[in-house]
Amino acid sequence: MKSEPITIILFGRAVCKRLKKDVFKIMPIISLKQQKNDTLSKEIKALPPPKTAYVPLCSSRRENLVATVSVGDTVTPFVTLSQPESGKGSPVNSPFFGKVISIKKFVIPAVGKLPCAEIEVKNTAEQHPDRETAKPEDFSKEEIMDACMRAGIVDELDGRRLWEKLAEASRSGLAAVAVDAVEDDLYSSAGLCVLMNYGGEVAKGLILAGIAANLAERFIAVYSDKSWDEKINESYGGLPVRRFEGKYPQNHKLRKDLDAKGGGIAIGPQAARALYRAVTQNEMQTHTIVTVAGDCVLRSGNYLVPVGMPVGELLYHAGASEQAQLILAGGYIRGIPVTQDTPVYQGLTAVIAVREADKKASVPCIGCGSCASVCPVGLMPNYILEQLAGGHYSMVGGDAIGCIGCGLCTLVCPSKIYVSAGVAKVKKEILELNKFHMEERSDVYGKR
Ligand code: SF4
Ligand code: SF4
Repeated sequence: MKSEPITIILFGRAVCKRLKKDVFKIMPIISLKQQKNDTLSKEIKALPPPKTAYVPLCSSRRENLVATVSVGDTVTPFVTLSQPESGKGSPVNSPFFGKVISIKKFVIPAVGKLPCAEIEVKNTAEQHPDRETAKPEDFSKEEIMDACMRAGIVDELDGRRLWEKLAEASRSGLAAVAVDAVEDDLYSSAGLCVLMNYGGEVAKGLILAGIAANLAERFIAVYSDKSWDEKINESYGGLPVRRFEGKYPQNHKLRKDLDAKGGGIAIGPQAARALYRAVTQNEMQTHTIVTVAGDCVLRSGNYLVPVGMPVGELLYHAGASEQAQLILAGGYIRGIPVTQDTPVYQGLTAVIAVREADKKASVPCIGCGSCASVCPVGLMPNYILEQLAGGHYSMVGGDAIGCIGCGLCTLVCPSKIYVSAGVAKVKKEILELNKFHMEERSDVYGKR
């Protein structure tokens, strides 16, 4: 199945060595026959709450959140489950009515083991239609940042807290902010779906992000393909849509665009929409829209899922067959293997179930250099993995931060190592370390 939609053009290592690093910066290398038509042709389907949910009590291992609920407590939608020890930052809010029956640890992809509140669920929070008429310009940057923190928004692009990204961008004096709906992975369409269905809210969220971080240049980026181009407007809420086309990967083009404008940040469509709803309607981010697809999924589509639902239950709703040998969270190429017990977490946008058991087996790195050969931004992922094993993140941080998460290194690795997952972990750790370092010097939001 995999060989049909994907054509890989590999370069021998010797040839690659002779090419300049810049060549890789402009060289997407895979032709993908996109598999989004099915999911994009359907409405977003809201799922009923699970009987039991496992809500992660923080979004990263470095986030110092303390549980505010105990075993036996009754919870209601939007009640705080955990909050920052320092008082500054985002809480985790409950998506459910129910009762806390335990606190357990689960492995969250590219993050590690996180404590989760096991909740016996009675019902879930409902999303309300847009009922706000206020304009984004009516809000001050302080009001936007407060709402962003309170709502506990996680950006699906990188799993980071949105308020932290905006505060960093503000401190760094950047110029631009873009909604990144460049979903070039094979099946993933949650971001495009959000843009098609809630484009106005996404645009207003983008304007709010720009106000909060003093970023005057604002635009929306999508991956262009004839099968869905007509469904995407030329602009949303007055903000232009830029289309990137060509071979996989494409999201590095957005980064180059932002650099050309004097530097900027990209945020996900769901994070932008959540920001709009947090500011104007005081809504907490308790759900995520997830593409469920793959050759074992009968009812592929985009589902509105409460955080904490086990992945196995999500697959059950989507009619996944028992033949699924591999479940990938985050996409087919970029994805990381998970189990049916893994809880749906904030920022999860794709669950792909496939029959490829062979992808599971992994042997040690043989140092072939294939991962470095295909990396479109010229990194040496095998070297980064070596450092990850040694725990010396700071030595390779600069490199790992440049990773665009395309997953090509994983795709070509003959040892079947999830190389991109390791690089993503290093990148997240470094960004977290930088955050604490920058906060010490901050005079913008540091005193909040
Ligand atoms: S995922 Fe791998 S190939 Fe892609 S940019 Fe990151 S390190 Fe390079
Ligand atoms: S991580 Fe995989 S692709 Fe990279 S050098 Fe090692 S074996 Fe080769």
